[in-house]
Amino acid sequence: MKAPAFDYEAPATLEEALGLLQARADDAKVLAGGQSLMPMLNMRLARPALIVDINRLPGLDYIRIAGGQLQVGALARHTAVASHPEVKKGWPVLAEAAAQIGHDAIRNRGTLAGSLAHSDPTAEHPAVLAALDGEVVVRSAKGERTLKADDFFLGYLTTALQPDELLTEVRFPALAPRTGSTFVEFAPRVGDFAVVGVAAAVTLGGDGSWQDVRLALTGVGGTPFRARQAESALKGKKPTAADIQAAAAQVAEAIEPDSDIKASARYRRHLARTLSERALTTAAERAAGQGGR
Ligand SMILES: Cc1cc2nc3c(=O)[nH]c(=O)nc-3n(C[C@H](O)[C@H](O)[C@H](O)COP(=O)(O)OP(=O)(O)OC[C@H]3O[C@@H](n4cnc5c(N)ncnc54)[C@H](O)[C@@H]3O)c2cc1C
Repeated sequence: MKAPAFDYEAPATLEEALGLLQARADDAKVLAGGQSLMPMLNMRLARPALIVDINRLPGLDYIRIAGGQLQVGALARHTAVASHPEVKKGWPVLAEAAAQIGHDAIRNRGTLAGSLAHSDPTAEHPAVLAALDGEVVVRSAKGERTLKADDFFLGYLTTALQPDELLTEVRFPALAPRTGSTFVEFAPRVGDFAVVGVAAAVTLGGDGSWQDVRLALTGVGGTPFRARQAESALKGKKPTAADIQAAAAQVAEAIEPDSDIKASARYRRHLARTLSERALTTAAERAAGQGGR
């Protein structure tokens, strides 16, 4: 199918873009990489009267570090995130997640901000934002607000973004020394959306015990699932295979996945357990191995 007819604007400034969104909030959609929006239009699952193409907005494709924090602009593509040396060094879980999205063509166009705004229940980036306690910066003609993952992701393909708002920046705090992190997922074929994915970041204390554990899953519900119970169960202990297995089993118990055309709820639980164990083990090994990441 072809997309329904729509008006098209490609503003040259952020102010102009925000003005268009304010004036046409009821029937406008932002176009970033187009890797989710264009299929939605072509399948007639979205019928906006106006497309606001943000690709000509200057200076929004940055990936920078400020005050130790990683800041990613709205037009930074998955490929740029996956290959950025500072991201690979300081936030490897994010680089690994970005590298597992779709194929080259999708990664070359799709954006981190667009992925969060679209909020596909099996997308990689929402789980990374949740695991790393990141936040999104959202602008409208009325002002700016920042939101954490818990407040941003509301349900299947639903976020707290208002129709007149633009997600302008994604922020990730610095990982502490002796932190190891990773993103692991299972997809039936390379390039497919994951069935389940797990983002893990663990920090080991000077005595080798789990000082901090962060674990978030995608593909087990409408929003990323932060496995807080399992995290708490591990904190303070020394990493052992038995404790990791117990925590992974706890994750599988705590989630409430749906069955769908891709996988049964039972299979998703199985994947959640297996991948959580794998992610925690790898993250702990990395933390122990380098006194860091
Ligand atoms: C074949 C195929 C395979 C894919 N595989 C994966 C995969 O494995 N994992 C995965 O996570 N994704 C996958 N994707 C989706 C891809 O990652 C998209 O890039 C991403 O979901 C959306 O980013 P985008 O920049 O393309 O956004 P767009 O498609 O341009 O927009 C998506 C939605 O977000 C809104 N939006 C975008 N940017 C903003 C913004 N800055 N502020 C406010 N709203 C905004 C749009 O209005 C729209 O509603 C796949 C896509 C295809 C076509």
